[in-house]
Amino acid sequence: MTPTFTHDFNTPVYKGKSSFSTGLYINGKFVEGSDGTTIDVINPTTGKITTRVAEATSKDVDIAVDAAQKAFDTTWGLNVGGAGRAKMLGKLAQLMEEHQQELSALESLNNGKTFSWAMNADIPIAIETIRYYAGWADKIHGQVQETDEKKLTYSRHEPIGVVGQIIPWNFPLVMMTWKIGPALATGNCIVLKPSEFTPLTALRMCELIQEAGFPPGVFNLLTGYGSTVGAAIASHMKIEKIAFTGSTLVGRKVMEAAAKSNLKNVTLELGGKNANIICNDADLDQAVSWAVHGSYWNHGQACTAGSRIFVQSGIYDEFLAKFTEKSRALKASKTWDKYGPDSYQGPQVSKNQFDRIMGFIQSGKDQGATVVLGGDRNGTEGYFINPTIFTDTTPDMKIVQEEIFGPVGVVIKFEDEEDVVQQANDSPFGLAAAVFSQNITRALTIAHRLKAGTAWVNCVNQIHPNVPFGGFKQSGIGRELGEYALANYTAVKAVQVNLGYIM
Ligand code: NAD
Repeated sequence: MTPTFTHDFNTPVYKGKSSFSTGLYINGKFVEGSDGTTIDVINPTTGKITTRVAEATSKDVDIAVDAAQKAFDTTWGLNVGGAGRAKMLGKLAQLMEEHQQELSALESLNNGKTFSWAMNADIPIAIETIRYYAGWADKIHGQVQETDEKKLTYSRHEPIGVVGQIIPWNFPLVMMTWKIGPALATGNCIVLKPSEFTPLTALRMCELIQEAGFPPGVFNLLTGYGSTVGAAIASHMKIEKIAFTGSTLVGRKVMEAAAKSNLKNVTLELGGKNANIICNDADLDQAVSWAVHGSYWNHGQACTAGSRIFVQSGIYDEFLAKFTEKSRALKASKTWDKYGPDSYQGPQVSKNQFDRIMGFIQSGKDQGATVVLGGDRNGTEGYFINPTIFTDTTPDMKIVQEEIFGPVGVVIKFEDEEDVVQQANDSPFGLAAAVFSQNITRALTIAHRLKAGTAWVNCVNQIHPNVPFGGFKQSGIGRELGEYALANYTAVKAVQVNLGYIM
């Protein structure tokens, strides 16, 4: 018997019980890790232990891969048609919808994001993603190539086989669905590792995946550490493809491990240091509101966070005053408050992240930047940091160059389009960017010149399952979401049939 996590949510916004196994999910069953060790799961709002989950080892990776391979060869892969996969994915989306409140409460408890944000943003995006890929499952097909009359030549888009997937803690369920949606729609079997900090919604999902009818072994979940389980997945000789979302540092290791093992196919979704460009002719109040969202959404723990805010000189002072005032109004959030100003600014996910962000803030101070707002922790319990704004930065400062992944923005003055495009592109990252201007020609001209996988115009952080997402430069390789993601999980085979040539 593996241990069970049981929690009574008796909150102003959600009352309900959640109970599920905290073992590894392999071949349709929850099992203990081969070493019998566990990982503490911490509630970031209080800093106290919520529960313990099984810690997988590299031996468990082997067991899960074998189970996945067996399922691929017998009940999944080429043994189930697109309509069958579509039905199961559709059922999974429906089950997630039925459990939306519970999944939101778990995400909030584990990650620290407030219930209302989980309920109104994360979980709906996750559900939409699964439903979107349910729609694709029976539309995967190759092409017929015209060669000559005595030949039939066509391509097949076949599933790859066993795929490894490694995800971070900032949007745990959303990241999981971005990975499993296209992989299952195209007929692959999965070994997935969630972040060691946020395994709870992934564990609950195992039960829903089972209830949706996926055969044992099609989806396997290994809770464990990156340096052991993650590394074993990345270097596994029988895993043909790895999809990773996380830091650029670890992404590099994953790619190295893939290259040194079986040259598995790699897609990477990595960090960002995203430019948010606000021109003199922007709608100022709207630009301020979006900049607040860009900087502090998910407590700054978004790979797309608009943490470098470039403001044109004509409106710089007014923008800074309004942006500071609006940022100051964000109080430490009440996790279980209804949607509104009191349910926005949650804690950082872990003590590690809290310390790391405070280290960046200190480096900004040490390197001579001006702290206009914040720069300190909020309260004494949990991992809350006050919204922080820096000005008077120089391009070489750590807070300008590196991804902070916390509620910290730098506001930088620019003069003209040339100047801002040069500064915005002066980054090793290229994930996302935003431009604010009421002159659509100017906005689009700048947007097209930015080296980023996403360019938002007069908005930030908009995510839709049918819109491709991914990074230029060191922000990643490949695209998730949309039709683009299907190519990550299919191998193209060309079939050439002789209809009458005689040798
Ligand atoms: P991380 O790189 O520390 O960890 C990500 C995952 O990799 C975790 O599951 C971790 O256990 C695992 N891991 C750690 N070491 C490993 C190793 N040696 N081999 C294999 N796996 C290993 O990142 P994080 O702190 O969990 O998440 C924050 C980062 O994720 C940020 O840089 C953020 O920008 C990025 N992110 C990117 C996107 C995107 O779509 N581009 C989305 C969300 C987060």
